Amino acid sequence: MTKAVIYCRVSTNEEIQINALSSQIEEAKLAVLNNNWHIVDEYIDEGKTGTTIKKRNEYNRLFNDIETDKFDVIVIKSQDRLMRSTKDWYLFVDRIVKNNKKLFFYIENKFYTPDDALITGIKAILAEDYSRELSKKINNAHSHRQKNKGTVLLTSNTWGYNKEGKNIVINKNEAVVVRMMYELCSQGYGTRSIAKMLANMGMFSRSGKPFSEGTIRKIIRNPLFKGIAVMNKIHYDFNRKKNIHNDISEWVFKENAVPPIVSPDIWKMANCVMDERTKKNHSDKHGDTVKGLKKGNTVLSSKIICGYCGCKYWRRRYRRSGGDIVIVWSCSEYVRNGRKTPSNIYSKPKNKIVSVSGGCDNIHIKESELNSVLLKISYKFYKNKYNVFQQAIKIVDEVISDKSEHRILELKNC
Ligand SMILES: [Zn+2]
Repeated sequence: MTKAVIYCRVSTNEEIQINALSSQIEEAKLAVLNNNWHIVDEYIDEGKTGTTIKKRNEYNRLFNDIETDKFDVIVIKSQDRLMRSTKDWYLFVDRIVKNNKKLFFYIENKFYTPDDALITGIKAILAEDYSRELSKKINNAHSHRQKNKGTVLLTSNTWGYNKEGKNIVINKNEAVVVRMMYELCSQGYGTRSIAKMLANMGMFSRSGKPFSEGTIRKIIRNPLFKGIAVMNKIHYDFNRKKNIHNDISEWVFKENAVPPIVSPDIWKMANCVMDERTKKNHSDKHGDTVKGLKKGNTVLSSKIICGYCGCKYWRRRYRRSGGDIVIVWSCSEYVRNGRKTPSNIYSKPKNKIVSVSGGCDNIHIKESELNSVLLKISYKFYKNKYNVFQQAIKIVDEVISDKSEHRILELKNC
């Protein structure tokens, strides 16, 4: 007896219809019955778009099962149930043909045959094109709605606010924390200090962990807290199948979008102080330190790892009371949170706020000492490779004295 499975999914057009999915399942089962087949499994994807197979779990399960002996026929409504991307379609039918399985379209009451490849291929291209157009229309409608009156969309985890039906209201407890962040920032504290102070005051994020420096920076920088929502920052790109950040010129700033938590004055003050601190930090460090992607300014940056806690060592410059500068490498966990076990033998971290957790007890190394250690290691490593260096120098010497082509080629081949 022929073993059959059904695959059902509602299309974009059908999503508005009630019971579209359940009637599709019934129709598919009826088709199995009419053909005297035996149904062995059902693959049902609920309300998933056809443009990408990533989120379609049942589709993926079906795709994998094609290579098993579980069934002989797949029953579907029509070709567009399976995919909207031409490439996915070809992968699917290729797998069906290779595994000697059959595909049955119940609307047309016929099987897919390899002879259909051209016509079904064209259909797949048209369907993909249709989806692309639809995606464009949705993007346009979305940005149009945002530019006009549209409601402000907040992600459910926006700190400081709650959604009550269609309204966005201030979360009073969280707003206290936001105001505290702005207040401390205006007073000149950096994000690292603010993070520690909030933790010491028992103010934690929704996950119950101390606020990270990055989160605090994001909150200070976000105009939402003075009531201005920034919208239209991203759009969905059909071809790349992911969200793309829009150019700043396309951003939509909507005033009075949400009730403000801080006044425009304190918002401006905190952001000015943050700008100043950023500028100062840049000019303080010697060399041209760049924040963000190009972190670190020496060959050793990010290469020294603490043996106690696994954090990176940071390079720090001190000016001694006499005026001369000392460069020391310390575990970054110590720099952030001080010592793990308080001790009077060692000096306390410069930042006097005591941490609630974390910290590291590993040693600090003067850069001069570090360099001499590295020198010794590299001497040991290269000692036995003296001959290699001599040979290389010899060839270079020869090339410089005799500029003939073949010697240069020989050198390149070395
Ligand atoms: Zn450490």
